[in-house]
Amino acid sequence: MVSSSAAQEFADANLRAKMASLGMAIHYTRAEGNTLYYRDSENREVAVTDFVGSFGSLMFGHNHPEIVARAKEILDNQTPIFTLMLGHSYANEVATALNAIVRRELGTDEPYYGFFANSGAEGVEVVIKHAEFDRQARAAELIAEVEANLEAARTAVADGAVIADDAFDSLGLAAAEGIDGLVAEVARANAEVAALPPVFLALERAFHGKLVASVNLTYNPDLRLPFTRLGPRARFVPSDAPDRLREVVAEERRQVFDVQVADGVVSVVRRDFPVFAGFFVEPIRGEAGIKPVNAEYAREIERVCAELDCPIVLDEIQSGMGRTGTFFASTHIGLRGDYYVLAKSLGGGIAKTSAVLVRERRYRKDFELLHSSTFAKDSFSSLIALKVLELLEAEDGEAYRKAAERGERLTEMLTGLWKEYPDVIKEVRGRGLMLGVEFQDQLDASSPAIRGIAEEGFLGFGIASYLLREHKIRTFPTASATTTLRLEPSIHLTDAEIEKLDTALRDLCALVHAQDDRWLAQA
Ligand code: PMP
Repeated sequence: MVSSSAAQEFADANLRAKMASLGMAIHYTRAEGNTLYYRDSENREVAVTDFVGSFGSLMFGHNHPEIVARAKEILDNQTPIFTLMLGHSYANEVATALNAIVRRELGTDEPYYGFFANSGAEGVEVVIKHAEFDRQARAAELIAEVEANLEAARTAVADGAVIADDAFDSLGLAAAEGIDGLVAEVARANAEVAALPPVFLALERAFHGKLVASVNLTYNPDLRLPFTRLGPRARFVPSDAPDRLREVVAEERRQVFDVQVADGVVSVVRRDFPVFAGFFVEPIRGEAGIKPVNAEYAREIERVCAELDCPIVLDEIQSGMGRTGTFFASTHIGLRGDYYVLAKSLGGGIAKTSAVLVRERRYRKDFELLHSSTFAKDSFSSLIALKVLELLEAEDGEAYRKAAERGERLTEMLTGLWKEYPDVIKEVRGRGLMLGVEFQDQLDASSPAIRGIAEEGFLGFGIASYLLREHKIRTFPTASATTTLRLEPSIHLTDAEIEKLDTALRDLCALVHAQDDRWLAQA
């Protein structure tokens, strides 16, 4: 018999205690639209306005009636849910719908093939695997070409061609080694390069998930460093310093030897080896503090990736699905991905799913036989995702217009506060309904209590706790920039909800401005 003790907790006790110490461990019992409800000590239902939309997964809010109705219908119809390896899956329809959106938004006819997974991080892992599979195939093609060229050179020498002197020099060989020595050395040196592990490029402060491979592309050292020995090798580059990107590329770039025969002379040349498996980019880095990549840097990414034949991977897990007013946030900076990763709102707030899109030019169909999961592309998630895409595309894209318009309204309010309290708010950033409010760090605050919480690195949590306690507003700092609060509400955000946030932040700003630390008191 399994006995349970009310006092002892077996899941998340440590995490819950930490959240409780910040005044944020609340057990919500109901959710609807942008509102979460909990019951207070007298069992009264208390409403909290959810400005984080559970970290951006609720474009249509909690329990959207049409999505919930579709879920009930799917279950009432006794739809087969787990159809692993059967001849039909609704995932194909989701991929078809996504292709129509890609065609419209990117203005391209090139198809994108879909893979499905269960979470954002799992989608990123799919890309990592596919990108490495593709890189190995490209490497094998290159090595096979070199081998054919070596054979052609051998034949040419047998037929009287000569070997250029500097061919031997470039390989560190003496001319006496002849064609056999040259062929053997090229093969040996190339095998050494081919055995090197891939390099992934990612942006500093990027967040791409916490599974064993994806966590290695997540910048935050606390999250990543304990697991670097398990995963792929990433080089992180700043998003505002093209020179640094060029330096890192130069450090990691590898070449192999090839030979060519022209006018009866065999010479040795160098060719780039595909060591770079992918450049991962969040068009707006969510956990970094809502930091958009600008169009200028996007052009640099394109130039570098074209030069290296390195795939561009756009992680749109948090920024995509219409949140910024277009389906992909990358559309605003004209950046096109070889891969896209979507998750969060794709599941409509009730299903757990993610999708990877791979453009045809990069797509390796044999990967379909290498990667699967019992739960991925199940009918429930796929049909819910289809419903979400239908809602997004309805009325000629009304949802996108709403995201842009509500975002502008919210930005206007936040910018007003920023102008009024520049000593409290450092910056308002983002686009559409993916906004960040960065607070001044308060490390020089005259109030010892405010300075104290700032020094501990908990200022953002303190602010979120105050907004929750006093104003019944749920916000949360971004994971790697904790003085920035994220705002990612649904498109159904009302003027009244914006006003409620205005009042709350105005109160907070006035208190911090006056260095009045009473807002730090625990409930
Ligand atoms: N990539 C990005 C950009 C994200 O924001 C997140 C989640 N915050 C992930 C990956 C990981 O997604 P999940 O939490 O579903 O694994």
